[in-house]
Parts: sequence; C-alpha cells; structure tokens
Amino acid sequence: MQYSFYPGPSQVYPQVGMYMQQALASGILSANHRSNAFMDLWAETKVLFHEKLLVPRDYTLYITSSATECWEITAQSLIGNNSLNFYNGAFGQKWLEYTKKLANGKNCVGKFFAKDEEIKSINQPCEVLCLTQNETSNGTQIPIDDIGKLSKTAEITVVDATSSMAGINLPWAAADVWFASVQKCFGLPAGLAVMVCSPKALKHAQLVNDHNHYNSLLFIHENFGKNQTPYTPNVLGIYLLNRVLNQIPSIKSTNFTIKNRAQDWYRFFAENCKNITLYIENEAVRSDTVIVLQAKAEYIKSLLNYCASHGITLGKGYGPEAASTFRIANFPAITDEAIGFAQQLIQTHYNNYYG
Ligand SMILES: *Cc1c(COP(=O)(O)O)cnc(C)c1O
Repeated sequence: MQYSFYPGPSQVYPQVGMYMQQALASGILSANHRSNAFMDLWAETKVLFHEKLLVPRDYTLYITSSATECWEITAQSLIGNNSLNFYNGAFGQKWLEYTKKLANGKNCVGKFFAKDEEIKSINQPCEVLCLTQNETSNGTQIPIDDIGKLSKTAEITVVDATSSMAGINLPWAAADVWFASVQKCFGLPAGLAVMVCSPKALKHAQLVNDHNHYNSLLFIHENFGKNQTPYTPNVLGIYLLNRVLNQIPSIKSTNFTIKNRAQDWYRFFAENCKNITLYIENEAVRSDTVIVLQAKAEYIKSLLNYCASHGITLGKGYGPEAASTFRIANFPAITDEAIGFAQQLIQTHYNNYYG
C-alpha cells in the first residue's frame, strides 16, 4: 500500500482513477471548451460547489490554475492603493512577497504575527486585507469566528484557504474573496484552483479597473458568466472536481469528521509520545487540517524513513524550522483505516526508538 499524509499534493480520492477513465470515455476531453458539453459541465460544477460547500448564492465561482495565480489576481485586480498581508508562516510570507513585486507604486505592507498569537484586531484600516486562513507550513489557523471581526477594518478581505477549503466549514460571508488549489482538502490532482468572489469584490474590481492581463478578474468574470473561460481550461481537472463534489457529503458533515480526527491526532501524540511535542501550543489557533509536530531532527528523519518503508508518506517540515518539525495532513480523502495504520506505525517506531 502507498498512502500519503503529505499536506499537498496529497492523497487523492480512490475514485479519481475511475473518474479519469469515465472522463475519457465520455468524450469531454476532446470536446471544444466553447461546446455545450463543456458549458453544461461548468454550470453543473458551480451548482454542486455552492450546494456542497454551503457558499452564498451571490458569491461567484471561478477556476484558476493555482493558489499562486490567485495571489497574483488579487494584486493585479483588487489592490488599487494599498494592502495589508498578515502572515506567520511560509505561505503567507510568499503571498506578501508576490504582492510587493506586483505593487507598482501601491502601498503593500505585511504584518508578521507569532505562531501562537491570535490576531485580535487590526488598528490600521486598509483597502485590501489578505489573510491565510490555514498556514500549511506551521499548522496554525485563523479561527473562523475571528475572520468577520478582522474584515471589518478593510474594504475588501481576501482569504487564502488552500489547505482548509472543503475540509472545514468556512464563514464565506465574513470575507469577499476566498481561494484554494484542489490538491489539498479536495483530494484531487494538482493543476487547478477555485476562487470565490462576493458582489462587493466585483464592484471593487470595477473601481480598480484592471484589464491588462489574461487573468484580470473582470475578464475572468465576463467569460465565466457565459459558462466559458478566457483560455482553454483544465477540462479534466474541472471534470474531476465535478465528480468529487458530487461524491462528498455536505461540508457540515466533513467539518465534524475533520475536527474529531484533528482532536484524535493531537491527543495521540500528547498521550503516547512524550518526546514529540505539539508545535502549536495555543489550542485556539491549532490547525484542524494540518497537524504539525516538533521533535529531534534525527528522530524525525528516522520516523519518516520508517513510515515510508511501510508505504506511508508523512510530511516533512516546511520553512525555517523544517528540520525539527514534521507535518501530517488531516484531509477528508484520508480514511480512518489509513489513520489507524499510520498511528500504529508511529507508535511502534517510537517504542523502538525511545524504548
Ligand atoms: C499549497 C498552498 C499554496 C500554493 O498552492 P499552489 O497550488 O501551489 O499555488 C498557497 N497557499 C497555501 C496556504 C497553501 O497551502
């Protein structure tokens, strides 16, 4: 057995292989993207997305190629004058760096906060506030109840939810733009991302009035509104997204499962492995979808090798403390059986190593 607990790209749903074959057999992969077959596929995908993830009706869904592209779209099409990026880890920081590169005379600033800190308020009002809901590198999250409080100080709030969308129930109405690539909680192959915009975000895009890019938000909006795309899209990716959305339960149910499994993972390490510590001490900001542990670098190397030799891939650390941390994806496509097996391996290896 080969099984991945890597937090992206991650374990895909076992049905994906069958869906790929069905995509081929259906002829959709050879159909023109201006055809009715494609337009129907996209129209149905939008409905499923809204239904399963409980997205407000007036929020519009778009496809992009990656979360990184969504960082760029935000900078080009939503920031007219200034922006404020909050970050406490590697992905949030990268987003800030991209934003600054594209700033073009706009005032784009970042504010670092400590990994165990909860951002309670923002004292400087800004045009565009950028938040990383779940920081995949260090296993923290901005508690969902805080997002609405933070977004009050900004005209537009954009949230990178790449490693939490489709895993936890997001407070959509509390922000204007949400995006995620699908190789994390959607349990799909990489190469596709989803972006959701409120009517207010679209009005704001009209004020900024960016038309200079193939992925300018207004241009994307105009095309997707006709169930079309400005370029030839990743039809296979969209087909697979459609099928997976069809297959998964409502996000309320997934949210419940994921939170219980997260508690179980944290309890497992706290109770059974005294030499492994939970990297995030403040329970309020601990991620539900990416579990990060801290231990001796040598031990981590040994553990990851041991698990790999039994077909289980755990996630390496990421960012400045990469060597002394490791990560475990708690994404919906992972089964209880696989979690049980992984915990058994970790326990056996731990007892051998420290016993
Ligand atoms: C994985 C990840 C990204 C990058 O996703 P791409 O699809 O590679 O662009 C961005 N933000 C967060 C929080 C992520 O976890």
